[in-house]
Amino acid sequence: MGDDRDTGLADTLAEAGRIVGQALTDALERMRPAFDALAEVANRPEVRAVIERAEKALRRRPCLCFCQRAHPADRGVCEVFDAVITGQYSSDLLGDVDVPLCAPCAAARAAHQFAR
Ligand SMILES: [Zn+2]
Ligand SMILES: [Zn+2]
Repeated sequence: MGDDRDTGLADTLAEAGRIVGQALTDALERMRPAFDALAEVANRPEVRAVIERAEKALRRRPCLCFCQRAHPADRGVCEVFDAVITGQYSSDLLGDVDVPLCAPCAAARAAHQFAR
């Protein structure tokens, strides 16, 4: 009897897996026209231009300088979305970590360190 129950459970699981797999395949098949339409739209020149602009914006790294702390005297110099180099940030929690910095911040930091 026990054996029968185990076999039944295995069958049920296998059947459930088959149904889920089939449902996923069906769902993907049904979504395919939407993906195709999306790909077609994405290839249109005006849409490409928008995407390229977004990609360019994403490639820009934000400056993660902690201006207030790192160079309080030159807080206004930061070019927030134009990090060009990697600097070191010493934190009690994480130790030394690499952070992207914009050029003015890097200079301001250096000046601040030098003044100290
Ligand atoms: Zn800064
Ligand atoms: Zn900066």
